[in-house]
Amino acid sequence: MPVPVPKDDEVILEVKAAGLCGTDAHIYAGEYFGQFPLVPGHEFAGVVSSVGKSVKRFHSGDRVTADPNIACGYCTFCQESMENFCENFQAVGVTRHGAFAQYVAVPQQNVFPIDDIPFEEAAFIEPLACVVYGQKRARPPLGANVLVVGAGAIGLLHVQLARMNGAASIAVLDTAPEPLTLAKSLGATHCVENSSEGRELLGKEFPQGFHMVIDCTGIPAVVESLLPWVRSGGTLLVFGVCPQDSTIAVNPYEIFRRDLTIIGSFALKKTFPEAISLLQAGVIDVKSLISRRLTLEAVPDAVADFAAGHLKGKSLVVF
Ligand SMILES: [Zn+2]
Ligand SMILES: [Zn+2]
Repeated sequence: MPVPVPKDDEVILEVKAAGLCGTDAHIYAGEYFGQFPLVPGHEFAGVVSSVGKSVKRFHSGDRVTADPNIACGYCTFCQESMENFCENFQAVGVTRHGAFAQYVAVPQQNVFPIDDIPFEEAAFIEPLACVVYGQKRARPPLGANVLVVGAGAIGLLHVQLARMNGAASIAVLDTAPEPLTLAKSLGATHCVENSSEGRELLGKEFPQGFHMVIDCTGIPAVVESLLPWVRSGGTLLVFGVCPQDSTIAVNPYEIFRRDLTIIGSFALKKTFPEAISLLQAGVIDVKSLISRRLTLEAVPDAVADFAAGHLKGKSLVVF
């Protein structure tokens, strides 16, 4: 890729760390919007290498990250402060070239200083901002029992934020044992293997279910199985990205009879500042979530492996 030349309002970042995300696998599989050819990579941090004429706030050498979501500011949804539904939505690494390259161009209004947050941790600001947005959409009540399904990086961020939001119990279900051990060290109170015995055990421990159940798998069959775990009056947060054309069967009588709430959470909306503050304060552990460091050259194979379901945890491309 040629080194991008900044437009008047653009900042060029020299990328130092970039996270590989489930969304990249969906893009790779052609299951997401955006068009090829495309350089993916929407979770990143780096150093400003050059700026456009009208950029005053940033200078070369600044340590920064960027919100990849670019809203137009003038459509109906933007005018109503619902920028994540922008009708002219663009996103770095999704609809325009992203950070799996040495340099990436971003509009100045999307750039945030990261001060002394290490680059590898700053690459988590975007996914953390998404999880912050999800927990703002469906905040567990104080003293709640929360069930997180899927202990990947996103699930483990939900565990930590649910704990901060005042959950009394946080149960985690996953099919693999290693992420469950990690979940325990990050504040989960009940870590259960997602098997019929495991689920039976969990059912005995929480006979009335959970105030909040969060899907972090993006697997339709898993989402379909979750409503019975939601306590009457409780909430199911559909956070994982299911394939666009998937469907699930739910029992509408159950939703009616038990006052259930089903909530979606798309991307993020102005939650970069919260995510940056949380990392700066050191109250969210993202370092433990890094399972693999890749060189840029290894990215194509890693994305293919990831899309095939062979890579677990968070892979970071480090430059
Ligand atoms: Zn992502
Ligand atoms: Zn808009």
